[in-house]
Amino acid sequence: MTHSHGSGINRLSLNAIFILHLYLSYSGDIMKVRFLGHAAFEVTLDGKKVLVDPWIKGNPKSPVKLGEVSADIVIVTHEHGDHGFDDAVEMAKKGATFVSLFELANKAGEKGVKGAVGMNIGGPALIKGLKILFTQAFHSGTANPSGVVVIGKEGSFYHAGDTGLFGDMKLIGSLYHPKVAMVPIGSHFTMDPVQASYAVKFLNPEVAVPMHYGTFPVLTGKPERFKELVAKRAPETKVRILEPGESFEL
Ligand SMILES: [Zn+2]
Repeated sequence: MTHSHGSGINRLSLNAIFILHLYLSYSGDIMKVRFLGHAAFEVTLDGKKVLVDPWIKGNPKSPVKLGEVSADIVIVTHEHGDHGFDDAVEMAKKGATFVSLFELANKAGEKGVKGAVGMNIGGPALIKGLKILFTQAFHSGTANPSGVVVIGKEGSFYHAGDTGLFGDMKLIGSLYHPKVAMVPIGSHFTMDPVQASYAVKFLNPEVAVPMHYGTFPVLTGKPERFKELVAKRAPETKVRILEPGESFEL
């Protein structure tokens, strides 16, 4: 009797753990952020996999091969080669929804992508259950560059794209309260650690992740310096320095 009673409890608690696990994975309590090197991120939000700036082929920092990643949604912030337009096109041909500013989405269409969503800077569109909106980014290109905010039930994240510092990051912070902000710190083409620490102060995210550094010799910004500056300037924000392939959940 005692034995069967005991194993009954074990079975019960195992079931409870299993149900809790199912609940967590379906209720979307977990947001997962995985760094794929340079400015490429894979974020799992509300059970959807979103890839931003997925430069994989030719990225010296990529921890994966193109065939090893898939996405529900693939977002490209601008046309420069180190932000993965070509790889995003490949993923879109395998079923990911391609999302970018209008001109780049048209270009994806010309390359054979069906159903590319071309947006512009402004309010969100609902794509596969997630709200996606584009922000300005101070950068260059033959088409306008952008940053992007993705909002799910679990929270939101902001990927700044390539940009210099701008004061309206305060608006992005107060409107969308990003849980995670990915900010470029490499200098030369984007913000440096000092400017990026101000960006974090403006955005006020729970977690800031530095990106766009160290891939090429000119990208001299150091993530440790960024972390020190954020600790002084925006002490409520935690900095996560990720190695390519590394991830965290929150
Ligand atoms: Zn870049």
